[in-house]
Amino acid sequence: MERTVIASDIGGTHMRAALVDEHGRIIARREVDTPPNAPVDQMLGEIAALLGGVASQAPAPPIGACVAVPGLVNGDAGIVAVAPNVPAFRNLVLTTPLSAALGLPVSIENDASAAALGESRFGAGRGCRHLLHATVGTGIGGGLVIDGRLYRGAKGFAGEIGHIVIDPGGPRCNCGSRGCLEAMVSGVAFAARARRLLAKGQSPVLRELVGYREPTGADLFHAAKAGDHTCEAEIRHGGHLLGLGLGSLVNVLNPEAVTLSGGMLVMGEMFLAPLRESLFSIAYGPASGTSLRLSALGDDAGILGAAAVAFERAETRER
Ligand SMILES: [Zn+2]
Repeated sequence: MERTVIASDIGGTHMRAALVDEHGRIIARREVDTPPNAPVDQMLGEIAALLGGVASQAPAPPIGACVAVPGLVNGDAGIVAVAPNVPAFRNLVLTTPLSAALGLPVSIENDASAAALGESRFGAGRGCRHLLHATVGTGIGGGLVIDGRLYRGAKGFAGEIGHIVIDPGGPRCNCGSRGCLEAMVSGVAFAARARRLLAKGQSPVLRELVGYREPTGADLFHAAKAGDHTCEAEIRHGGHLLGLGLGSLVNVLNPEAVTLSGGMLVMGEMFLAPLRESLFSIAYGPASGTSLRLSALGDDAGILGAAAVAFERAETRER
């Protein structure tokens, strides 16, 4: 009988859970909307019901569960310190009540850290003992797998690569600093770039595309694809900056692979070519042999990341 775990991915809009086996195969899954502004008890009740619903479909008792949360998570203590998109999760012990409700060990993990372990177990980094993963979407997150295990740091907050400062005079980041990668390259950053171009009248193509509504990061890309060189230059510059950040990390970590996931990857080579070029141009000896790979896990990256953490936690308990 295959061993299974329950994996869950909690976001600001959806909550997902799945029953996953050791090969990363999803045996059953459920998804519900995240209740907006729900109090803590209601959130905990709904998550327990979601996980319990999936557990009831397991042919044999699952060996553990993991909930991936977008925020600062101390996985060893089972505490979510803060999760901006899920306001109920603030200095909250999430694991104890869920373990009690489900009758099995429940762990939690930052979603991008979980995704890193998921890539190394089931995805583009399969077989890599040393891996750097970056999620490039609305924000920028990341995770580190070192010697085959997720690296969490002293309080579990390791991997926040979105807050590497690239330009101290750059735009203000949500974290309070200026010029973080997330403030310069993410979907939110590209939307801000688009607003600036419109305000200065520098992109007629973009203006025609968005009219007078708020532009998004995707609008910047669509204008670039339609032939707007100013928008294309912004996207290429963003790719270049992310490559600088990732290349710097490669020099520190000497990973076998850098894996990328997230909505920004739809920009394709316009974004990735300058990223690859700057990454490998600054990467020193440690980068020899490092490969840059795109995630193939798609929408299931969060679920499979949580599953990977649940299996790692179970293996640790068994040792
Ligand atoms: Zn920041």
